Amino acid sequence: MSAPSAEGQRWGRVVCHLGKGLAVEDETGRIVLCHTRRRLGDVAVGDEVDWQALPQDQGRVERVLPRRSLLVRPAPGGRLRVVAANLDRVYVVVAPLPEPDGLLVDQILAVCEHRGIEGGIVFNKIDLVTESASWEGWVTDYLAAGYPVFRVSARSGAGLAEFREALRGHCVMLSGQSGVGKSSLTKALLPKMQLRINELSAKSGLGRHTTTTATLYHLPDGGDLIDSPGVQVFGLAEMSPADLAHAFREFRPFLGRCRFNDCRHVREPDCAVCAAVASGSLSTARYERYRKLLERLQAVPEFAGA
Ligand code: GDP
Ligand code: ZN
Repeated sequence: MSAPSAEGQRWGRVVCHLGKGLAVEDETGRIVLCHTRRRLGDVAVGDEVDWQALPQDQGRVERVLPRRSLLVRPAPGGRLRVVAANLDRVYVVVAPLPEPDGLLVDQILAVCEHRGIEGGIVFNKIDLVTESASWEGWVTDYLAAGYPVFRVSARSGAGLAEFREALRGHCVMLSGQSGVGKSSLTKALLPKMQLRINELSAKSGLGRHTTTTATLYHLPDGGDLIDSPGVQVFGLAEMSPADLAHAFREFRPFLGRCRFNDCRHVREPDCAVCAAVASGSLSTARYERYRKLLERLQAVPEFAGA
């Protein structure tokens, strides 16, 4: 619940960027083309805003309401660009083909943990899986870490009912490497996607709404899906080594039990995380990827010690 708005201001939610403006949806579902008050800062898809009606069916965004979460990605020049606001969950989509990139999966999950967004795995293209053993092994680590894993096929529709049920009432995004079936799944989940694209194109007055930018769609059973086709991974920027270890959620019971307070769980003596890996309590594969991500983090000097 947000604070009451000032006189003449109304609540809305940003559904996409249109040219130099924003498409803002009010509580009745009507979309208004808005520009923003100067010095408002970044306004993201998913943001809740107060806006003021202007002539000609347009509006001006006056204020961005407090966010539940914010997802950013690295942009050229060491800057950060906002991907989406107020996401509750990000599902990493993987498939038997192209073969899962565990490092990418773990990076996305770690960033989400750090940002207070729930993570989950969607194993798509199960229609292609003949030997279940090969991929069961791969998902075991995620199930053990407490992540939900959905087995679906965008092509055959298998598993989609259960996945839809889990999405109900939440604001979600699909992420993952190219070719795993994110757009196929998005189409399967959003029967009215084309209607909104048409509506946004009409509003823009500039021809077609480019679907390469992030767009918020409503799920038929309640909840929303932010489709951000160009973005596959979110940066580790702003995470410290301690944040990274904490973002590997199954490491948490062992953190704080190492000999050194600032242990990075690499080569230090009496490291509780390393001991747990050695004894088989923690997955070696996940731990190896933690180390690779730690190296990646430390390779970016301005973020390394922060
Ligand atoms: P994206 O790059 O992640 O958006 O992936 P796409 O949705 O474009 O899908 C990539 C390819 O995988 C396309 O040729 C799809 O037809 C195919 N594909 C998507 N989902 C499935 C599935 O469940 N089963 C099979 N066999 N193929 C799929
Ligand atoms: Zn340690």
